[in-house]
Amino acid sequence: MNREFPRVGLGWDLHRMVAGRPLMLAGVEVPYNKGLLGHSDGDVVLHAVIDAMLGAAGLDDIGQVFPDADDRWKDADSRAMVTITRELVARTVALRPVQVDVVVIIEQPKLAPHKAAMRQSLANLLGLDVGDVNIKAKTHERIGEIGRGEAVAAQAVVVLAACPTGGLEQRV
Ligand code: MG
Repeated sequence: MNREFPRVGLGWDLHRMVAGRPLMLAGVEVPYNKGLLGHSDGDVVLHAVIDAMLGAAGLDDIGQVFPDADDRWKDADSRAMVTITRELVARTVALRPVQVDVVVIIEQPKLAPHKAAMRQSLANLLGLDVGDVNIKAKTHERIGEIGRGEAVAAQAVVVLAACPTGGLEQRV
């Protein structure tokens, strides 16, 4: 693996929005009358970030690391999944996150009042300064499933760099 330059990964995820579930975004519960359906807590932002980290590390995808069929991840806290992913990336390829940028595509609720808390939560989870974390919210112009409030999507780009302390690379 080439560590001469930072490594970039892309993540994307979508979950259905339904009544009776908490709306978890970037590890923060956003007050709303609907939330995200999923095997875990459905945190679409953290799932996109996990996939971006795995992508940058060349470690496949979230479905391989946290299989739907595995009851360990049923209703799992996605924050714990981020921590596990960070440890996996550090241990196997000696890389750590240094920057993340996120787009959340959501019609309602408006995220502006919650973005600062979401940024801080994501920064804490990734061990970053809040200045190295950005979260943007866009609507879907009332078009399609997201526009009708039936789903929420997120995109993430994560930059990984070599761990200064090194890690144990295990090539399999
Ligand atoms: Mg997901």
